[in-house]
Amino acid sequence: MKEFIKNLKFAWNYTKDQKLKLILLFFINILAIIVSILMPIYYAKIMVELSNNNLFNLFIVAIILAFIELARSLINYFNRLIAQIIYKDSFTKIQIELGKETLKLENKVMEENGSGVFIQRLSSDASSLADIFYNLFEYITNLLAYLGKYVGIFIISKIVFLYVLIATILLAIIEKVRAKKINEKDKLVREKKESTSGFIAELVRGNRDIKMLNAEEPFINEFQNKIKDANNELFKMQGIRRKYNLLSSILNNILDFIIILIMIYLLMKKYLIPVNAVILWNYSSVLYGVDYFGRIVDIIKNFNLSAKRVFDVIKGEEFSKEKFGSTHLPHINGDFEFKNVYFSYKKEKVLKGLNFKVNANETVAFVGKSGSGKTTIFNLLCKMYEPQKGTITIDGINIKKLDKDTIRGNITIISQNPYIFNMTIRENLTLVKENLTEEDMVEACKLACLHDYIMTLPKKYDTMIGEGGINLSGGQKQRLAIARAFVQKTEIILFDEATSALDNETQEMIQKAIDNMKKDYTILIIAHRLSTIINADRIMFIEDGVIKNEGTHKELLKNCESYKHLYESELKSRK
Ligand code: ADP
Repeated sequence: MKEFIKNLKFAWNYTKDQKLKLILLFFINILAIIVSILMPIYYAKIMVELSNNNLFNLFIVAIILAFIELARSLINYFNRLIAQIIYKDSFTKIQIELGKETLKLENKVMEENGSGVFIQRLSSDASSLADIFYNLFEYITNLLAYLGKYVGIFIISKIVFLYVLIATILLAIIEKVRAKKINEKDKLVREKKESTSGFIAELVRGNRDIKMLNAEEPFINEFQNKIKDANNELFKMQGIRRKYNLLSSILNNILDFIIILIMIYLLMKKYLIPVNAVILWNYSSVLYGVDYFGRIVDIIKNFNLSAKRVFDVIKGEEFSKEKFGSTHLPHINGDFEFKNVYFSYKKEKVLKGLNFKVNANETVAFVGKSGSGKTTIFNLLCKMYEPQKGTITIDGINIKKLDKDTIRGNITIISQNPYIFNMTIRENLTLVKENLTEEDMVEACKLACLHDYIMTLPKKYDTMIGEGGINLSGGQKQRLAIARAFVQKTEIILFDEATSALDNETQEMIQKAIDNMKKDYTILIIAHRLSTIINADRIMFIEDGVIKNEGTHKELLKNCESYKHLYESELKSRK
C-alpha cells in the first residue's frame, strides 16, 4: 500500500493539471451511484402498479424510469468522454517525458538491455500509469454503489443481508487467490513481452539485411521460439482467468438459487412483501461485483509494476543516465587531446594508454586494422562512453566538465552508414538547424556535392527519403550527412569512411566534399582506403590500443613498416 501511494504521487505529476476534469468525473460518478440505487426501486414500482392495475400511476412511474434510463446513458457517455480526455492527456505527457529520458540513457544501457525493454515501457507501461486515476474512480464508484445496495438489503431484510455477507466473504477469498496467481504470472508475461517486442523491432528494422543474408529461416525459427514462449505464457495467464471465471459464475448461480430459496421462505412466512423481494433480487447483484475487489487489487498491482518500470527510466535508478558537466563554451576552437586514455567496452581493453593531440582546423586521419579502436576514439570524444582512465580535453578543458551542448553541439559524426531520417531532404537538414535559410541549405548541399543530384529529383529538396520516397545510395547518404555537418557548422567533424567500395565518381565527390571542409574545421577521418588520406595533415597509425606511429603519408612510408606494408597491399589489390 505504501508503494502504491508513492507511485500514485508519481503518476499524479502527469494528471494534476486535470484536477477540474477529475472533480467533474467524481460528480458524474456520484450521479451514477444514485441512478444505480434508484433503478431497482422504480422497476419494483412498475411491478406494483402493474399488479394494482393503476394505469395513471404506471404511466408516471414509466416516465420517471425512462428519464432515469436516459440519465444513465448520458452519465455513461460523459463518464467515458472525460475519462478518455484525462487518459489521452496523461498518456501523452508520460510518453513525451519517457521519450526524453530514454534519449538520456547511457549507450551501454541500451546495448545491454535491448530495445524491447524500452518499447514496452514507452507504450503499455506508460498506458497503465495514465489509466490509474479514472480506473480507480470507476472502481471506487462501483464499490460505493455496491455499498449502497448492501445498505438497501440490510434495511429490507436482515436475513438476506447476513446471507449476502457470507457469500461475499466466500467470493472475496476466491478472488484474492485468483489475483495473487494472476499477478505472479503477469510479471513473467511482461518480461517475455519485452524480449519479443525487441525481436519484432529487429525484424522490422533489419528486414532488408535479414533478406540479404538469406537468413529468413533461422531468424523466423528464433522469432517463433520467442513468440511461442511469450504467447504461451499469456495463454496460461488467461487460463487462470478462465478457470476462475468459470468457478465464480457457477458459484454465483448457486448463490442466486439459494437467495431465491431464502426469499420464497421469507415470502411464505410473510416476512417479506413481493415489492421488496423484487428490489432485493436486483440489489443482490452485488454478489457479481465481488470480483471488483479483486480487480482493484489487480489494477493496483499492475499499476505498481508499470510505475516501477516507468520510474526506473525516468529516475535513472536502474538505468544510468549520461552525465555531463556544467561548463558551457559558446564557441570552441576545435582542438582536443587524449591523455593516457584507457577504455574497454567489456573485459577486453580496446584503448591502452592512448595519447594524441589534434590542433584546431587540422585534418588528421586514423589508420589501423579493423577492430583496433578507431571508432572507439570517436565514441569517446562524443562522450558516448566514458574512459576508465585518462582524460580527454576539448580546448584544454576536460570533457567531463563540459555540458552536453558544448560537446555534442560542436562535434558531428559522419558514420559509415549515416542515419537518415524518413523525412524529406529539407527536413533532414532543418532537423539539425531549425531556422535554416534556403541559401544556406543549397550552399551546404553544393559543398557536399549533392545539390546537382537533388535537382534531378522530382520534388527536389522536398523529396521524401526512405519509406514512401527514394532510397539513397551509401555514398549519397554520406554526402547528405556531410551537408548536415555543413549546416550545423560544428567545429569538429568526425568522418568514418565507408568500408564498402564506392564507385570512383562517388568517391571523388566525397573526397571533394571533405576537401571543402578542410582548413575551416577540425577533421578526423577513419580511413579504410589510404588513397583518401594521402593529403591529410597527419596520419596516426593505431595498433594494439595505442598510436604506434604518426606523421604525413610520406613520413610514415619511410618510418613505419606496418603502414608501408598496408599501403603496398592496398596498391596491389587495386591492380
Ligand atoms: P575500428 O573502428 O578500429 O574497427 P572499433 O573501435 O569499432 O574498431 O572496435 C574496437 C574493439 O571494440 C573491437 O574489438 C570491437 O569488437 C569492440 N567493440 C566496439 N564496439 C563495441 C561495443 N559497443 N560493445 C562491445 N565491444 C565493442
